[in-house]
Amino acid sequence: MKDENCIFCKIANGEIPSRTVYEDDDFRVILDLNPATKGHALILPKDHYQNLYQIDDGTAAKVLPLAKKMAVMMTKKLGCDGFNVLQNNNEIAGQTVFHFHVHLIPRYSSDNQSLVMPPCGMTAEQLDAVRDVIVG
Ligand code: 5GP
Ligand code: ZN
Repeated sequence: MKDENCIFCKIANGEIPSRTVYEDDDFRVILDLNPATKGHALILPKDHYQNLYQIDDGTAAKVLPLAKKMAVMMTKKLGCDGFNVLQNNNEIAGQTVFHFHVHLIPRYSSDNQSLVMPPCGMTAEQLDAVRDVIVG
């Protein structure tokens, strides 16, 4: 299903032009308009899912193999030194476009970028309590 008001639906389905680096029946991979590094790309499913909470299992199952294929191919072509795969859900987590997408971010030893989140500081007891909430 597409969402008529969603810009990534329009891009994924070719209604708005994009710098496409890969396409198949289910996905389009495009260059990010405001890249964090050279080659920063986004995997977009052609169907609309708001984020990871909504994506169907069949589509989700194809995402990681595609991310791997793109990472291998782009590393070879761009000569990057590493790779971040990132996916944001909801505003607090940095999601700004509410159509599921995966960031493919080539990393270079000279890129001066960082994705580091400092530890929030939890005791062993607090970790035990969190585990209990999740499995309980
Ligand atoms: P988010 O913050 O939702 O995880 O990521 C959204 C990403 O989409 C951002 O990196 C932003 O630069 C990119 N973006 C937003 N609008 C467009 C667009 O119209 N075209 C392209 N190619 N990228 C976009
Ligand atoms: Zn959409």
